[in-house]
Amino acid sequence: MNENSLKKALTKINLGALRYFDSIGSTNDEALAWAADDAKDLSIVIADEQTQGRGRLNRKWFTPKGSGLAFSLILRTTLRPHLSRTVGLAALSIADALLKHGLSAQIKWPNDILLNERKLAGILVESVWSGEDMDTAVIGMGINVMKEAVPPFHLLQFPAISLGEVLGKPPDRERFLHDILAAFITRLPQIGSDELIKEWEEKLAFRGQRVQIINELEQKTKQSTMNTVTGKLLGLEPDGSLRLRSEHGNLVTVHFGDVSLRPSADTI
Ligand code: ADP
Repeated sequence: MNENSLKKALTKINLGALRYFDSIGSTNDEALAWAADDAKDLSIVIADEQTQGRGRLNRKWFTPKGSGLAFSLILRTTLRPHLSRTVGLAALSIADALLKHGLSAQIKWPNDILLNERKLAGILVESVWSGEDMDTAVIGMGINVMKEAVPPFHLLQFPAISLGEVLGKPPDRERFLHDILAAFITRLPQIGSDELIKEWEEKLAFRGQRVQIINELEQKTKQSTMNTVTGKLLGLEPDGSLRLRSEHGNLVTVHFGDVSLRPSADTI
C-alpha cells in the first residue's frame, strides 16, 4: 500500500482529498487536526500502521504494519440531526463490502463488526462542534485483514478474527477499502431513513438473546451502583439507541456512550 496505489484504487470514489501515512499515531487524531485546518468534505486519512490507535474510552486499537485497514473519513455535511446514526451507516458499509466476499457480518452494538461472533472491525466516531452546530464528524474504521492484525488473546476483552482467517486468503486491502467507501457514499442519502434503522437492526448481534450492558465509565469511577443492565436485546430506537427488555419486564433504552455490550449466558 502506498499513496499512488491508493489513489489509483480509489479514482472512481468521489473523495475530498487523501492523506496517506506509512505509520501514524492515530488516523482519527490526524483527521481531527486536518478538519480544524481546511479539510474538504469526504477527505480521508489512511495509514499502514497505527501506533496509538484508539477505541472508545481511550482503549487501544491495534493496527500492526501491513496487516489491516485503518482509516478515518471526514464528513462536513450537515449530519447533525443524524449523528447518532453515523456509526450504523459505517457498520452497514463494512457489512456491504463483506457481502461481496459472501460473508454475512453482524453488528455488535454500538460500534463493532463481528464475523463468526468474533470482532473483525471497530468504528470510532468523533465530532467537532462549533457552538450549537456540528462542524465535522470523523469516522474511524479499523479492520483486521491479515491474521497478523489480530492482537494476542490476553489483550482482548472480546474474541477477534481477521478476513485472512475466515476466507483462507486475505482480500486486497485497497480493493476492500474501495468497496467500503463506495458503499458508504451510496448509503449516505439513507442516513435519515427508517430503512437504515431496519437494516441495522436486522444485522444486530445477539438479537433476541440475553445480554449485559456495562457502563464502563461509572464502573471505573464507581459513581453508581447501577452500572450493569441485563436484558433481552429487542432492537433499535429511531436514533440508534438500543432497546432491551430487562429481567423485571421493563423496556429499557440504552443510549450511546461509554457502554459495552456482552452476551450473557443465562436465558430469560
Ligand atoms: P468494546 O466495544 O468491545 O467495548 P472498543 O470498541 O472500545 O471495545 O475497542 C477497543 C477494544 O478492542 C480493546 O480494548 C481491545 O480489547 C480490542 N481490540 C484492539 N485492537 C483490536 C483488533 N485489531 N481487533 C480486534 N479487537 C481489538
